[in-house]
Amino acid sequence: MPTITRRMLLTGSALAALTSRTGPAAAAAPPAGTEVAGLYRYRIGTFELTALYDGIWYRPITDRFIRNAPFAEVERALDAAYMPADKLATPFTTLIVNNGSKLVLLDTGTGGQIAPSAGVLRDNLAAAGIDPKAIDLIVISHFHPDHINGSKDKDNALVFPNAEIMVPEAEWAFWMDDANMDTAAADMKLTFRNQRRIFADIAKAVTRFTPDAEVAPGIATIPAPGHTPGHTVFAIHSGAESLLVLSDTAQHPAVFARHPDWQATFDVDGDAAVATRKKLFDRAAADRMLVTGYHFPFPACGHLVKTAGGYEHVPVEWKPTL
Ligand SMILES: [Zn+2]
Repeated sequence: MPTITRRMLLTGSALAALTSRTGPAAAAAPPAGTEVAGLYRYRIGTFELTALYDGIWYRPITDRFIRNAPFAEVERALDAAYMPADKLATPFTTLIVNNGSKLVLLDTGTGGQIAPSAGVLRDNLAAAGIDPKAIDLIVISHFHPDHINGSKDKDNALVFPNAEIMVPEAEWAFWMDDANMDTAAADMKLTFRNQRRIFADIAKAVTRFTPDAEVAPGIATIPAPGHTPGHTVFAIHSGAESLLVLSDTAQHPAVFARHPDWQATFDVDGDAAVATRKKLFDRAAADRMLVTGYHFPFPACGHLVKTAGGYEHVPVEWKPTL
């Protein structure tokens, strides 16, 4: 090992000294040029969970993105999170729960229909060794396109042909109401139309669950209105262990956990979204619950710690065993 002096560090010659060895390690390899599979597996009691990464969208934002904060503050928060000032980093992670009797998929990803940098769910499903035909049940948290579009391909064929689909009753009631669509703003009308594209021809096969229903053994639903009227989170219990699936209670935690009062333009009811966020985050922090968020950085799983002004997300440690 060569001796590195401070002077060498300053002049950059330290690296040259460390890399001056000759031998097989110096052989050049062609760069792989592609990312590895985005999967993370963990256990809750006897349940096996697989987090499946679907990609990321850098959502363009304007100075009106947060309804109740000056944009200079938003820019500071984005800068502190190493994000560009005009885009919100929006990663997507779906979750498969194997509860011992069923394979349950919570939300379906973008279907490659939101951004070119998202839509790798099916590749990651293959990497996980899971056949789409093996999914027994899909449970939807809410009807935004990034949560439902992955249930169909671009030709409108079902991606998970054997899966029963369960959706929140309040979400169906709001978005499938033509009067609501007719009075919506132009960009929201697109969302209404997209939901009809996904659900209209399969409406009879879609089961609507009521608030607080258990959709499968060990998977309970909790109404979490605000982001959308029927927005739902999930509590997964097995043995003494549990996981709170936060869905879109907060989008990227570096922005919305640190600033839980912020109301984004994509929240249908901003006041309710903030109240729901604080209630669930307080519970998760106080009970030291493991949580996962659909738009948290992959593997989207960790804990929430209460801070002076909000919450900090502490990601899980990667482990080579379950
Ligand atoms: Zn979302």
